[in-house]
This record gives sequence, C-alpha cells and structure tokens, in this order.
Amino acid sequence: MNELKISIVIPTFNEEGNVEILYQKITEAFEQIMHSNFEVIYVNDGSSDRSLEKIKSLSQTDSRVRFISFSRNFGHQNALKAGLDNAQGDAVISMDADLQHPPALIPEMIRLWKEGNEVVYSIRKDGKELSFFKKMTSKLFYKIVNYLSDTKLEEGTADFRLLDRKVVNALRNYNESNLFFRGIIPTLGFKQIGIPYQPQERFSGTTKYSFSKMLKFALTGITSSSAKPLYFSIYLGLFFAFLAFLYGIYAIYISIFTNDAVLGWTSLIASILFIGGLQLIMMGIVGVYLGKLFTQSKNRPNYIIDEKN
Ligand code: UDP
Ligand code: MG
Repeated sequence: MNELKISIVIPTFNEEGNVEILYQKITEAFEQIMHSNFEVIYVNDGSSDRSLEKIKSLSQTDSRVRFISFSRNFGHQNALKAGLDNAQGDAVISMDADLQHPPALIPEMIRLWKEGNEVVYSIRKDGKELSFFKKMTSKLFYKIVNYLSDTKLEEGTADFRLLDRKVVNALRNYNESNLFFRGIIPTLGFKQIGIPYQPQERFSGTTKYSFSKMLKFALTGITSSSAKPLYFSIYLGLFFAFLAFLYGIYAIYISIFTNDAVLGWTSLIASILFIGGLQLIMMGIVGVYLGKLFTQSKNRPNYIIDEKN
C-alpha cells in the first residue's frame, strides 16, 4: 500500500532552543500512529542564532527533514507561503516552532483529514498560558475583523492547521504582498472542520511578535480581509459634513436674527481642530490601502531563498 505523505511546515525565526525538541515530538506523534511517510520542512526566516545550524544537522541524520532558508527575515506569513509552495505532501500541516502548537494533535488532524475534511484548523482555547494582554488584544482583533469583513474569522484560529493538497494548490495562486492566511482560508471553501486545543507555554526563547509587529499584523489582517474602512471614512466624513452644515445654518441664524454675531473663538478653533483630525484619520485609511496597492504594483516576490535541500 502506498502510504500518503504528510508535510509539516515550520516557520522558524531564532528558535535554536526549540528546533530539536520539536522534531522529536513530531516524530513521536507519527510513530504513535505508525505513519512514516512524512517530511518536516523548517523555513528559516533569517534567524541570527544557531537555528539553521541545528536544522541542517537534523537533516543530515534524518533525510525527512528539509529546510528552506531565506536571505533575510521576510515574516511569518511569507515563511508559511514558502513552506506551502515547496511541500510535497498530500496534506500539509503548518505549526509554530515554539511548541505552543502541540504536536500531539497531529494524529487527530490526520484522522479528520482521512475522514474527508480538506481543512482541519485549530481553535485556541485560552488558558492561563497566555498573558492577559495577549488575550485581550486577540479578542479585540477578532471583534474588529469580524465586524468589518464579510467572511467570519473564528476567534482563536492561528496558523496551526492541516490543508489538503487541493487547498495547498489553490493557495499557490495567492501571491498578494500582505499575506494573511487566517483571513484567506475561510474564503476558499472546501470541507473545513475546527478542533479545539489548549496552547502550551513557549518552550524556549521569547515571542517573535513584538507589540509593534503584532499591531502591524492586525492592521494587515483587517485591511486585507475588508475594504470597509474606506467606506467607513466616507460615512464619517458625510456625518460631520452634515453637522457642519447644521452649525452653518445656526451661525447664519445668529448673525441675522440676534445681536451676538461675534461668535466665540472657542467654537471656531474647536471645529477646525475637529475637522482637521477627522481628515487626518481619513487620509490615514486611504494611505494604508494606497500603500498596499503600491507594494502590490511592484509585484515583488514574497520571499527570497538563500539555500535549501
Ligand atoms: N516567526 C517567523 N518570522 C517572524 C516572526 C515569527 O518565522 O518574523 C515564527 C516563529 O519562529 C514561530 C512562529 O512564527 O515559529 C510564531 O511566532 P511566535 O511564537 O513568536 O508568536 P506568538 O506565539 O508569540 O504569537
Ligand atoms: Mg508562539
């Protein structure tokens, strides 16, 4: 019998303390279900520590370990993209390098896939492993995205999922410059199923998502799954233009029918400031989309591979 091949894709950015243990856990998970036809692809996203060295030595002892190494840091989503583009499996599982995504869930994912599900995604059930801050910002993020976009993003979905070959092939055509897989996958269709899991604590090292990176990621997420903020600015603009119009009528009324024609400087400056601020917000929103068009129009590659095996 020809055993189906499973690929595991792992974006890796300065994870020297996790590379080996993760490999062990993954092998154990496959041993448990007596499945040996798999490959583990580490996508080294410009690490400056000894991650690549460790990956290379793993690949020397086990030919099922492959690697793709970028010429610099291109970001988590682009690392995922490279992994998906290069994976050979009939199904591809993506997971983080830090063991927050438990490899023990792999057998269950494969089982659900064999039952005919083409996307098996995971839903993080927040426990005390995550900081209060992370929980709150994550909640807020999903609220905003779901309010703004037409496709629903389930709270707690991360880039820990199994994709059938058909889905991986479909994703090849997604070459947009600000990739946000979480927002794309629900729009693909196919038979999808979610499984809950308890996130573990990061095994070694610290988070590679600083606050500013997280904020950028959230902004990317919102603006790549929806154009609504653009319309929002129009509504906001109309609303305040209407208010200004009413105020104008009031000012005319004052000057014609009363004697208090010299209106306060306060109200004047307040409205100028207010409208000014509003315009800045609207320009900002337009700017975000314009920036995206700009990067997209250059059509640059999502990543550059330095070496791979
Ligand atoms: N990562 C990456 N490139 C980056 C940032 C992160 O490949 O620029 C990888 C990182 O090595 C990890 C995964 O993406 O495997 C998720 O990152 P992390 O665990 O730091 O994020 P958090 O779980 O704190 O949100
Ligand atoms: Mg993590």
